[in-house]
Amino acid sequence: MNKVLETVGFRKGECIFREGDAGARAYIIESGLVEVAVRRQGRALVLAELGEGELLGEMALLDGLRRSATARAVQDTVLIVLNRALVEEKLENAEPMLNLFLRAVLERFRTTRTMALPEDRALIGLSDMGAAMPAPRGAAYQRESELVMERLKSEQALSEAIAKEQLELVYQPIFDLHEGHVAGFEALIRWNHPTEGTIPPSGFIDLAEETGLIVPMGLWALEEALRALLRFREVRAGHIYDSSECFVTVNLSTRQFDDPHLADSLGRILSTNDIDPGLLKLEITESLLMKDPEFAMVELNRLKKLGLKLVIDDFGTGYSSLSYLYRFPIDTLKIDRSFVSTMLQDEGSKQIVRATTWLAHALAMDVVAEGVGDSGQLLQLQGLNCEYGQGFFLSRPLAEHDAHSVIDHRLAC
Ligand code: C2E
Ligand code: CA
Ligand code: CA
Repeated sequence: MNKVLETVGFRKGECIFREGDAGARAYIIESGLVEVAVRRQGRALVLAELGEGELLGEMALLDGLRRSATARAVQDTVLIVLNRALVEEKLENAEPMLNLFLRAVLERFRTTRTMALPEDRALIGLSDMGAAMPAPRGAAYQRESELVMERLKSEQALSEAIAKEQLELVYQPIFDLHEGHVAGFEALIRWNHPTEGTIPPSGFIDLAEETGLIVPMGLWALEEALRALLRFREVRAGHIYDSSECFVTVNLSTRQFDDPHLADSLGRILSTNDIDPGLLKLEITESLLMKDPEFAMVELNRLKKLGLKLVIDDFGTGYSSLSYLYRFPIDTLKIDRSFVSTMLQDEGSKQIVRATTWLAHALAMDVVAEGVGDSGQLLQLQGLNCEYGQGFFLSRPLAEHDAHSVIDHRLAC
């Protein structure tokens, strides 16, 4: 899309658009004066005179119908052009409910314009008609309306999911690639929906993030993961050959990270569970950190004071500045699975895994390779001195009781 603003000039008296024309553009008046008028019973009725900074032509652009009035330059005028593609892009990214409101207002406005009512009342839009206004029926409105209904229902269902105990954490083992034992687990959330079955995070995390539900949901995940950690400890303690404690990692989303109460809530959860805080690792993506590095620095230091560990997730897919990487109190880099899963065929991926491991060690961090998909990758990672590995080849994410039974598993090689 062309990001350069297009402007167009009109001389005094020139017509900008005419009532009944098709309209694919709206305008903002950069300078000058524009008169907007309609023809009724053979005479022109001026609706408005618009000056600098005001908007015109937006109705036809938004609902794709014809111009409902004529616009003419009263003085020499310059307009900034807003074309349909630009506006549609903005509408697509807007809150569905706002879109619905927009369509409803537009359709009602147009309907009242064409109703057989005293001219002056019809022309001002009849905001006082209240319930007497006909319901909008356009196809676009129907589509928006269905979208909004669906979204409201999902939002409602998701907000009840915690109370109704429909959320569950599954645990994917993370192996120590040198010693071969299970070093810890990544907690991954699932929604056991009463009619849709198990929904993976890709089906609801975005909605939870947009609505803010991710904050209570994330807190629930942290508390649940810590309770699971206590149970893992008990199971592990029963093993004669390896009673070392395992850790648990929990994913943090943007909204949670921005929540000013995060560190306090975490402090409270940690103090109510008899657990070594160093066994809890928070996974944060690099794009989240680089969004506002100075804020991230303060927040990371507050979290570190609680004694827990910090992991940069999906490393290599964002744009970390190396100087920040050095200054952030990070314990672990987790190499994104797109590099690990292609490292045997793609020399570039292999070099990224090698360089990331080297960089992490140089900065006194350890490394987790995620997405380990076969024994060849595993061997290479061991050769590169990568400490930890996680991936479907080693184990899929497991329900907690299955995680208990693999807690003493060891790698064959
Ligand atoms: P992630 O943090 O990168 O988590 C790893 C994802 O990769 C998991 O998907 C896991 O099942 C999958 N995975 C692990 N090994 C392999 C492999 O070898 N091959 C392939 N193809 N995939 C592998 P999942 O559970 O669907 O989670 C997806 C994303 O959802 C996570 O990506 C994370 O960003 C987010 N997520 C999961 N649980 C939570 C949570 O409790 N809170 C927040 N905020 N986000 C979560
Ligand atoms: Ca993760
Ligand atoms: Ca990841």
